[in-house]
Amino acid sequence: MKEISITQIKICPRCGQAYYEAPALSRIDNQTPICPDCGTREALESMDVDQEEQEVILAIIHRQRRNL
Ligand SMILES: [Zn+2]
Repeated sequence: MKEISITQIKICPRCGQAYYEAPALSRIDNQTPICPDCGTREALESMDVDQEEQEVILAIIHRQRRNL
């Protein structure tokens, strides 16, 4: 059997970006796979974080990932 590729490129239906990571599930319907960034955005949205703040937080997350 063919190995399941976790490096397969997926396109996020929410932001249209290509991503490689394991998808997050959209909170809207609980079944649409979206990119991890949008997963974070939706989580922040649910906490009433505005869009500008969301991007700031995502930038911090990305910076930390790079340092791993
Ligand atoms: Zn996305």
